[in-house]
Amino acid sequence: MAGEYNGSSKASESVFKIPPIKFTKLFINGNFVDSVSGKTFEAIDPRTGEAITRVSDGDKEDIDLAVKAARQAFDHGPWPRMSGSERGRIMMKFADLIEENVEELAALDAINGGKLFSHCKAMDIPGAARNLRYYAGAADKIHGTVLKLSEGFQGYTLREPIGVVGSIIPWNFPTIMFFMKAGPALAAGCTMVVKPAEQTPLSALYYAHLAKLAGLPDGVLNVVNGFGETAGAAISSHMDIDKVTFTGSTEVGRKIMTAAAASNLKPVSLELGGKSPLLIFEDADIDTTKGKFVLQALTDKKQFQKILSYIEHGKREGATLLTGGKRLGSKGFYIEPTIFTDVKEDMTIAKEEIFGPVMSLMKFKTMEEAIKRANNTTYGLAAGVITKNLNVANMVSRSIRAGIIWLNCYTAFDVDCPYGGYKMSGFGREFGLDALNQYLQIKSIVTTIHDSPWH
Ligand code: NAD
Repeated sequence: MAGEYNGSSKASESVFKIPPIKFTKLFINGNFVDSVSGKTFEAIDPRTGEAITRVSDGDKEDIDLAVKAARQAFDHGPWPRMSGSERGRIMMKFADLIEENVEELAALDAINGGKLFSHCKAMDIPGAARNLRYYAGAADKIHGTVLKLSEGFQGYTLREPIGVVGSIIPWNFPTIMFFMKAGPALAAGCTMVVKPAEQTPLSALYYAHLAKLAGLPDGVLNVVNGFGETAGAAISSHMDIDKVTFTGSTEVGRKIMTAAAASNLKPVSLELGGKSPLLIFEDADIDTTKGKFVLQALTDKKQFQKILSYIEHGKREGATLLTGGKRLGSKGFYIEPTIFTDVKEDMTIAKEEIFGPVMSLMKFKTMEEAIKRANNTTYGLAAGVITKNLNVANMVSRSIRAGIIWLNCYTAFDVDCPYGGYKMSGFGREFGLDALNQYLQIKSIVTTIHDSPWH
């Protein structure tokens, strides 16, 4: 899987051309600019552990500039004021440009995200275009309702864009996370400051470039790369940001919510960690249980070491290592698909989120026991159920406290299917029209009515 910088990369599933890196600066108010400090940081290829390039390192001052641009574009610019169909037209063009550049974008996520090029080309990048088209189609269907109030009054509601949105995203799906937030926010008429994960800064800058080509007015979509404690924290505590949307760890989600509450009480939506069970009943068609592993490089050394340390915990605490457990290859951040058996509920690997290719197998005897165990977690992001028994499928899927249940499949996502957590996996929903509503405010307007043929 090693990538080479001589113009091509040999992957087990495909060969692809490594593109020249065109965009490395911050994107603020329609221009690529250096960070105020002039600082840069390395973008790493997790497949090799080597640096690809250096990108501008945004800090509080850069976030301030980006928020100023987004504020101006929201308060005085055309984006929130143009018709929904015109916004939709620009978003459609944005989607077309993404598809035209699919090879280059897929290669960027492969070399910077450690992802499989074929997955990116077939799923992530077309998924971004699909996401934009879905929300583009919704942009001219945003409307309120007419209210028949008590005698002498009538009312109606407006759905207005919430304002300047700060978007803080993780590294695992750099493209999907970017558009999961940008699709509905842009359709709603919001303006944005996006902070990609420090591990995956590259494709977001390319998207900013394509947004400009598509006709997004300056200031509507700003991208500031940087670190969590600096650029990220500056977003969550900013007084002029109206909403923060975040995907990442529960620990950081808590910090973001605290900072939002301590500043201007901005609403936040949080997509956080999970410990998502896959319940396989004895009548299961075992082929449908595939999908728990996605084979790709871990994003960086820190994450790589964290996963290896969970594997050591599993061994020390007495679980049986059925397969895997070691580094894969000699360079980059790959770990073998790892399966533990004889896992007990009180073991660390059974309780804590392991954001890597490690599976813990536990046996259950009854449906009730399976439901109880699946709910015995502070998380509630997702779960899978594999059974041919419809009654079991219904009972289990309605009993598990998680935001999405996959029946006879696993990790199946669609832009039309809301996705989000229960419990400490966060709140708010991505995808679907539920996501669009999170970028809209409801305003009620009440008037008197004196003459009407009906009450
Ligand atoms: P992370 O929480 O460390 O980082 C995510 C983002 O938050 C990054 O952009 C980072 O720079 C920023 N950040 C870090 N500290 C910050 C701070 N103090 N203030 C503001 N921003 C800050 O998460 P990660 O390790 O990059 O990603 C893995 C985690 O993300 C896992 O826990 C995983 O479950 C979660 N995740 C959840 C979903 C979901 O759909 N619910 C999807 C992907 C990842």
